[in-house]
Amino acid sequence: MTSTTQLLNQCRNVYAIGRNYRAHAAELNNPVPSQPLLFSKSTASLCTGNRLQLATHLGTIHHELEVVLRVGQAVALGQFDGLACCSHVGLGIDFTARDVQTQLKQKGHPWLRAKSFQAATYISTLQPWDRWTEPLTFQLRRNQKLVQDGDTRHMIFSMSHLLAELNTFLPLMIGDLIFTGTPAGVGPVAPGDTLELLSSELATQTRLELC
Ligand code: ZN
Repeated sequence: MTSTTQLLNQCRNVYAIGRNYRAHAAELNNPVPSQPLLFSKSTASLCTGNRLQLATHLGTIHHELEVVLRVGQAVALGQFDGLACCSHVGLGIDFTARDVQTQLKQKGHPWLRAKSFQAATYISTLQPWDRWTEPLTFQLRRNQKLVQDGDTRHMIFSMSHLLAELNTFLPLMIGDLIFTGTPAGVGPVAPGDTLELLSSELATQTRLELC
């Protein structure tokens, strides 16, 4: 079986979506989008494992727990035909420099600096696709307290819709990772925190220490 580290090394593109859960859009006072708000994260920001060194020079860093899909079969432009092109599924954290993002939004600038710093794109474990089931429920505990409790039934745009939308302007490439949006409950993290990423359907439980 290919390890998560090997899979991350093969990754050429990381895509993500903003505001895909109504309650999360509301908690940051953002309007609910009428089409998916897509952005990308640098592969240089990818990381995995049980310890992570948090950026300390970018102001407040927020956790955003998300379901992550990995593309295992290339899809030519406009040929998307369902999630069967995916080879793996897992949980990840889209770490976000929230103060930086707020300033960038005010200026109308791209989000790169807020979303693509070192170790900003955390993947716990990528599970083979046969673990896939819908709906998926997933949780994040910060220092043993439940802070995010997600359910894919509450997505505004389904995972299939997201990949189809991306594929209207890009081919999907083997190894691409897609972060599918965060539910409500995002908040700050600090060195010394312990995060636990859980999903009973995926039979996964990962403990991550921030230093
Ligand atoms: Zn996110």
